[in-house]
Amino acid sequence: MARPRFTGSFTQQLPIPEEGIAAAVAVMRSGRLHRYNTGVGEESEAMALEREYASWQGARFCLAVASGGQAMQIALRAAGVKAGDAVLTNAFTLAPVPGAISGVGAKPVLVEITEDLVIDLADLEAKAKLSGARYFLLSHMRGHLCDMEALTALGAKLHLTVIEDCAHTMGATWNGRRSGSFGHAGCFSTQTYKHLNSGEGGLLTSDDAEFIARATILSGSYMLYERHGAGPDAATYSDIRLDTPNMSARMDNLRAAVLRPQLRAIEADIDAWNARHDLVAEKLAASPAIRVPHRPAAEHYVGSSIQFLLPGISSEAARKLMAYLADVGVEVKWFGANLPVGFTSDHHSWRYIGQQKLPRTDEILAGLFDMRLPLTFSLDDCALIADHILDAVAVVYPEDRA
Ligand SMILES: *Cc1c(COP(=O)(O)O)cnc(C)c1O
Repeated sequence: MARPRFTGSFTQQLPIPEEGIAAAVAVMRSGRLHRYNTGVGEESEAMALEREYASWQGARFCLAVASGGQAMQIALRAAGVKAGDAVLTNAFTLAPVPGAISGVGAKPVLVEITEDLVIDLADLEAKAKLSGARYFLLSHMRGHLCDMEALTALGAKLHLTVIEDCAHTMGATWNGRRSGSFGHAGCFSTQTYKHLNSGEGGLLTSDDAEFIARATILSGSYMLYERHGAGPDAATYSDIRLDTPNMSARMDNLRAAVLRPQLRAIEADIDAWNARHDLVAEKLAASPAIRVPHRPAAEHYVGSSIQFLLPGISSEAARKLMAYLADVGVEVKWFGANLPVGFTSDHHSWRYIGQQKLPRTDEILAGLFDMRLPLTFSLDDCALIADHILDAVAVVYPEDRA
């Protein structure tokens, strides 16, 4: 074959900016890695990150925590979810989402998705009524935003408390409003493969003072809750500090130090991701066999990954496609596989939540392919990857349709 094999790594992120490395070294030299290890009136790296993130996100409050999964678990608990409660969530999401719901002893109720990979609002309404759920953990899986005005109106009508999982939408907006600011709270991850990288880490935002006070105590603030960069005033804590358990899920100063310079550069990174994403999307969309999910004009996404569908593809053809792409060095994930691989699992492999019937989602996942687009890829890399996918589809897919 004339086309060269692709040799880049789909899991290679950019290095930490030198400024972040220097700040991390300074924290290590000080020996004061714990976020509350500060002198009087001194601002720790964790406090500064909370202040800067709240300001950038446009939220009143921000709490830095140990992971995105912990941000969601703390948010559910702080919002009042109790053991045994039903919590609605997307049937297509990543394992930490049903994990967070199960972590608070609640029961995930999975809602169908549409072929644009967003929540199906009709099924949301039906499942809310059927289950009596009062909570909805909305996962903007792979960065696809549903119609956020319609969702907000439906949530109000159904009396749902909406918590947004923004692991893939940090920096995305709907009609100019940031993802994470529509629901009661926004949950973000700073795990290596997300839009900011501190290895592990999470951020929780909200405009509700009592909610964030409960979350802060839950995160393990002891009685040091005043040492926060974007928290409510001390009076908010007068009962909450005595009524709320400490679940130790703090972020440390080392991670915060690494994150702050990345946050300052995030808008440029988003533009770089979208240039890569849009180049691949445009090339793939030219193939009549491939369906690229529709992106509404109201949505300003962050294209840190790309999804495409081969509707109706057989398992056999999908496996051939995967084998072809692996051969040419293109690491694509297929959500229709029987067994979970790497980071990818679907609701069939979450046996702890019980089997739920999701025929529409299953049909979509059977033909859904997904690929990361790290910023270490050049635009030429992206063009080569897209051409390999087009070749692979041309070789494999027509057989299936014949
Ligand atoms: C990564 C991710 C999270 C949070 O992950 P952590 O590894 O716990 O930070 C939540 N939701 C989705 C959809 C994710 O991909």
